[in-house]
Amino acid sequence: MIIVMKAGATSDQIEAIRAQVEGQGHSPHVLVGEIKTVVAAVGDKSKDALKSLVYSDGVEQVLPVQQAYKLVSRSSKESDTIVDVDGIKIGSGHFAIFAGPCSIETEEQTLTAAHAVKKSGAQFLRGGAYKPRSSPYSFQGLEEDGLKLMKKAKDETGLRLITELVEPANAELVAEYVDMIQIGARNMQNFPLLKKVGQIGKPVFLKRGLSATLEDLLMSAEYIMSEGNRDIVLCERGIRTFEKAYRNTLDLNAIPALQKMTHLPIIADPSHGTGRRDMIEPMAKASVAAGADGVMIEMHPNPDEAWSDGPQSLTFDQYAALIDNLKPYIELAGKHL
Ligand code: PEP
Ligand code: MN
Repeated sequence: MIIVMKAGATSDQIEAIRAQVEGQGHSPHVLVGEIKTVVAAVGDKSKDALKSLVYSDGVEQVLPVQQAYKLVSRSSKESDTIVDVDGIKIGSGHFAIFAGPCSIETEEQTLTAAHAVKKSGAQFLRGGAYKPRSSPYSFQGLEEDGLKLMKKAKDETGLRLITELVEPANAELVAEYVDMIQIGARNMQNFPLLKKVGQIGKPVFLKRGLSATLEDLLMSAEYIMSEGNRDIVLCERGIRTFEKAYRNTLDLNAIPALQKMTHLPIIADPSHGTGRRDMIEPMAKASVAAGADGVMIEMHPNPDEAWSDGPQSLTFDQYAALIDNLKPYIELAGKHL
């Protein structure tokens, strides 16, 4: 923690801060500048009590030196993390495509989608079997029957599977069927759920909350990693802004910003990030240009009849064209599928 004294702080005020820092078990280092003096508090005791020094006489501000997140921070591990999902690598040049319907609905829908995903060269079939819907009256998912359909799709195509987990009680069951567990935007700060996926030993795909800062997202990843699970991929899926022209605002700033803050791979989801079929391709390309390690795309055999997220789901033809058009961008970014 760094305590910055006001310009003109008296030597008594500086000494009082020095003594308080020492009294709380930290080593105080007083750095006298031409205009301002700072007191650096060194030591790994809890820093929270030091924050109150901001109300002491002569103090201008109190700043943390270290980030609150540690294990996921770039400063704790300089090299990019490569997450291995049952033999498929994500990060550091390994580009991943996650595609499929928003919800698993029927066997035909799931299997036809899986074959279209496989044909495109993507590695992961996505699909929700447990859906965290904003309305309790909306379709909530097929649950284990949906997981069984996904498993059948994997047996036919070899695609790796990703699905969302919404409650700790289902973690073991979901982990039996899929290769990667998605934590959705609405559950990004469901701490018991984060701890559970930290313990379960399956790679985790952590989506940014609708109003979460990057620090919030990284603190949530820290929850998972501090339980022992280092296989975490982050996902920018759009945040709430005042703009009404699209469902969410895909915050592409987040990608290069997060790359500075963390060593974890970052995926972009332009489907939820825009909510609009017509905007997915340009924003997928922009995501690759911004440095994304992969994209998540929703597609459906008949989007206009989808049980969830139809307006942002691509037809198979639109999806295939998007992936074809995206491949040169992936190559240009120095990455490969
Ligand atoms: C989804 O992937 O279908 C989903 C519900 O995503 P999010 O949590 O980003 O809304
Ligand atoms: Mn969806």
